Order: sequence, then C-alpha cells, then structure tokens
Amino acid sequence: MRKILGIIGGGQLGMMMTEAAKKMPEHIKKIIVLDPTENCPAFKVGAEQIIADFKDEKSIQELAEKSDIITYEIESGNSDVLKSVEDKAEINPSPETLKTIQDKFLQKTFLYENKIPVTEFIQITSIEDLQYGLTKFGYPALLKVRRDAYDGRGNLKINSSEDVQKAFNHFKVKNLMLEKFVQFKMEVSVIAARNTKGQIKTYPLVENIHENNILRETIAPARVTKEISNKAEKIAQTTMTVLKGAGVFGIEMFVSADDEILINEIAPRVHNSGHHTLQSSETTQFEQHLRAILGLELGSVKLIHPTVMFNVLGSKDFEGEYKPIKISEQNVYLKMYGKKISKPLRKLGHINLVAEKGESIKDLLKKLVLLKDKVRITALN
Ligand code: AMP
Repeated sequence: MRKILGIIGGGQLGMMMTEAAKKMPEHIKKIIVLDPTENCPAFKVGAEQIIADFKDEKSIQELAEKSDIITYEIESGNSDVLKSVEDKAEINPSPETLKTIQDKFLQKTFLYENKIPVTEFIQITSIEDLQYGLTKFGYPALLKVRRDAYDGRGNLKINSSEDVQKAFNHFKVKNLMLEKFVQFKMEVSVIAARNTKGQIKTYPLVENIHENNILRETIAPARVTKEISNKAEKIAQTTMTVLKGAGVFGIEMFVSADDEILINEIAPRVHNSGHHTLQSSETTQFEQHLRAILGLELGSVKLIHPTVMFNVLGSKDFEGEYKPIKISEQNVYLKMYGKKISKPLRKLGHINLVAEKGESIKDLLKKLVLLKDKVRITALN
C-alpha cells in the first residue's frame, strides 16, 4: 500500500527527503510537512504543509491523522505528544528513541551504560555541581545546554576558574551538563541506517570540518587509517544495535589524540555530513531513510566517488535577499535550499565536488579553494 508520510520540519532536510520520496511513487503517495515558515523548502518541492510550530500539539495530532508514518528532520519534536499519537500513525524513529537522543545528558548516559565510548560528563543543576565537575575534569571543559541546542549554540567553553560563575549565569535554563574537553585530531561521522525489521547498514566514515561550531566541509571518505575507520564503523554498528529506532542517524565522533573514537552526539535524522551521498554513493541518505522507515530492504552504502561537500552559509555581516549563485564546473553539484533570506551563517545550500577518474581528495580540496569565492553570499541590491 502506498503510504502518506508526515515530516516534522520542512527545511532543507525535509526538502531533500521530499525529493527522494518523489522518486519512489510506488511506495509513497504524498508528503505532508509540519513547519512554521510559510513556503518552507519542502513545500517548494511539492510537499503539502501544515503551518504551525514543531511542538504544537493540535497540529501534530492533525499530522498524525493525515499520515501513515511520521518522521522528522529535527530532533526538537515533542516526544510526549508524538507518543500520544502512536495509535494514529507509525512513528519512526520511535518517540522513546527521540526522547533519549534529544536530551544530550540522557543520550550520553545511554551510550555510557551500553559501553559505547564517550568523553566524561556530569549533570549540572547548581554552581556547586559545576565546581565539582571542573575539579574532576580540569580546564578547559564544555558546559552544554541539554536540550534544543544545535550547531553548537548551547555550548560554552570554560577556560579557567575565573570563568565559572559567568559561565553558570550565561544560560537561563539550568538543565545543563559538563563535558571533559576532547583534544581531538579530527571530527568524523558515520551515517547509519536501521530499518523497521532490524537490518543495519553504515556508510563509510567521513571527516568533518567545523567553523564557529557549524559544519563547513565534509570529506568522504575520511583521511584516516583502515584501523580507525574500522573502529568507528564497529562503534556505529553497536550504537545502532542498542538504539533500536528505525531511520537514518548521524553519529558524530571524535578521533582523539591517541586514536580512540569517542561519540560526541547522535542526530536521529538525516544529517548534513551525509549530503555528499547525493552524488557520491549508490543510495542517498534521503532514500535510505525512507527505505528504513518504510521497512524496505536498505540500499547499498557503497561510496562510488570520493567527494567533498562544502556548505554555502549566509555571510556573517549580512541579512536580507541575496544574489543567486551559479556554478557551471564539471563534477561540481550545487544544491540551494530555496531560502529567500540570508542570515549570518544560515545554511542556504551546499556544493558537492565529485572526483573524476584519478582525482584525489587533495585535488578536490585545491579546486574548492577556487570555488569558495563563487559561492560567497552577497546582497541582491
Ligand atoms: P555539539 O553541538 O555538542 O555537537 O558541539 C558542537 C561542536 O563543539 C562539536 O562539533 C565539536 O567541535 C565541539 N565539541 C563538542 N563537545 C566537545 C568536547 N567534549 N570536547 C571538545 N570539543 C567538543
């Protein structure tokens, strides 16, 4: 039976999921997204839209009544409300999985209890907790808001004892956690999928470069030894086995100074570091997610071409309408998300630089230096 799919969130991830769904008409009848922004990116490529806040109870109920399966492109959905509509629609990943993941402290506790390597961490509700944690972990350490923070927005680095009170006062919410700082060599991630029948597949390890806590570049495959990529893949497999939810997950990890792999965090959804799969791989992460939640056999995760993905972000000093970008280079794929207004560091699109025969990652990175100018965001007028 062809399914109607509801997605909480209709931004670029919902948009690329909608595009993938349109290529699977034998399985998917239509897509409905719940998003507060009128004409959101997913709507622009053919999804129906319920215009409301992601957490609006009535609208989530409406979405559940209209859909066979509900999934999400953001992790801040209301897991309790989602739980209450499970009798109306199948929800993947499950509200329980979402609940564990969307609270960074619960998530790390879950991983730790399942013997999956993470940095040391403690829950913080008072200044005394913070002082205790800093004595335990030393400086620097990272104070993190447990919920509803993304792209590093809820993180604060504490460098010395003088910063402690200020750091504690910095966040209005006091639902916090402290993490030991990882002196990492590299940030990497695995896009992993688990279908409703329990089949698991993991894409090859990729390398991620962040600026201002926002993903800037992904290099596929990661420039690491076979031992490191095997270790990371094993950890991703174990994580998917214990986590149980169905769908695609983005598993972000650190490679530490002594080549240990530590999980930083998991996103219960398709992930920015998987955008390279649009051109590099046999199955895109968007199709894979749909296959996983529909209970179809997962597609091949083979990386066919080494690829570098570069995010097109809003310029730091500018907000407003921006000049369209054009790229006409061979093997460079530009994907803009149809957002009318640029804001500082807003994700507006990405480019994938795909290796031609014989080209190496080094060659792609050289090419990228020249391309960066062409994808700079400037004012329309
Ligand atoms: P998060 O939003 O928690 O994933 O953090 C955003 C970025 O902060 C990560 O991509 C890392 O670059 C950095 N980060 C987070 N946690 C740690 C940590 N424990 N040690 C060092 N860097 C971290």
